[in-house]
Amino acid sequence: MQVENNRVVRFHYTLSVPGGTQIESSRGGTPMAALWGVGGLIPGVERALAGRSAGDSFEVEVAPQDGYGERQPELVQRVPKKYFRDAARLKPGMVTELGTRQGPRAVTVLKVGLSVVDVDGNHPLAGRTLNFAIEVVDVREATAEEIAHGHVHGEGGVHH
Ligand code: ZN
Repeated sequence: MQVENNRVVRFHYTLSVPGGTQIESSRGGTPMAALWGVGGLIPGVERALAGRSAGDSFEVEVAPQDGYGERQPELVQRVPKKYFRDAARLKPGMVTELGTRQGPRAVTVLKVGLSVVDVDGNHPLAGRTLNFAIEVVDVREATAEEIAHGHVHGEGGVHH
């Protein structure tokens, strides 16, 4: 059975950046499960999985625009400390949540001043070319409920 619309694919992946530094891997843990074709995966990975079947093993290089997007310089901001719930504990490199008009956003702390904090709202992998080594574990038909909800239920998916 091949990966296509209305099917659930489970796969292991190892993500690395050029130069070979490994960022994360599902190997040795629970494989990633995705309802294919609904945009739940980054576009470069979703496209690379099309038509694959259980046992397929491949590598794909994903450009920023097909991954976590290009870096947006305007997302690097200086923000008054009062906008952080946990201002006293902030340290450079930490990821924290900043309340914005569009709702909470994960930001990386760059620098902590006396009354302001410099943060970067870009995804940590924005602007990076990504290498995925992928191994398809299995492919199955999605249930009517999964298709209606737009996500996978059960192992590797949503429990509710
Ligand atoms: Zn659901």
